[in-house]
Amino acid sequence: MKICAATGNAGKLRELRRILEAQGHEVVSQKELGITIEPEETGTTFAENALIKAETICKACGLPTIADDSGLCVDALGGAPGVYSARYCGRHGDDEANNDKLLAALSGVEEGRRTAKFVSAVCFYLPGGRQLTVLGECPGRVGFERAGSNGFGYDPLFIPDEVGLAGGGKAPNAGGRSYAQLEDWEKDAISHRGVAMAELDRELPAFLAAGEGAGAPITAIEGSLGFEQDYKRDGDRLTRTLR
Ligand code: IMP
Repeated sequence: MKICAATGNAGKLRELRRILEAQGHEVVSQKELGITIEPEETGTTFAENALIKAETICKACGLPTIADDSGLCVDALGGAPGVYSARYCGRHGDDEANNDKLLAALSGVEEGRRTAKFVSAVCFYLPGGRQLTVLGECPGRVGFERAGSNGFGYDPLFIPDEVGLAGGGKAPNAGGRSYAQLEDWEKDAISHRGVAMAELDRELPAFLAAGEGAGAPITAIEGSLGFEQDYKRDGDRLTRTLR
């Protein structure tokens, strides 16, 4: 399926693109479609903001659209920066200043109290207004200094509890590596965004089928997960077989 990725954040776009392409979709960014709108994130939750972004961009481009709203919630800071993660320092998207502010806010906080989680809400929005929102979380902690150069945002400071394994599955992050020290696949398998997108991949067939009306043949659901798939509906029951 051709999907518009509703984001102007280059790091987030890279991740959405590689995860969606691995699931068998074609991805086009809002920039590639010439859409320069930056929806105002007026929601108080990740899910509200993901919906605002997906709905606005879908209405502008007419394609099925995906938006992610995400952020880092630090326990010792009462869940901050949370939905304000992109503008924690007072300016939107200044990763270096955001990381500096986070380190300063946690100065003197010992390792055991630096627990945090990344959260992602992903909204899939269809022309016509049907929508599906899924959530993903990744627990971990905030390091004492930056480590690694992959990724974006708070990646150099966030140390996830687990990392992805080659060939599937996950293992404890025994080396204490930051998101920015992980290979792409090690991060995608455990990251907040990866978890949300895997959930979307699981829910999408039934969501799309439900929109086709009870009893209608299911003909046009394109593959995900890289497998060929057969769909059969028996009354309200949808069966997906992977080949
Ligand atoms: P928004 O969802 O565009 O409002 O912004 C999310 C912000 O959260 C980004 O600008 C980053 O600062 C941070 N963020 C979200 N996901 C990640 C991630 O995977 N790694 C590092 N930072 C992230």
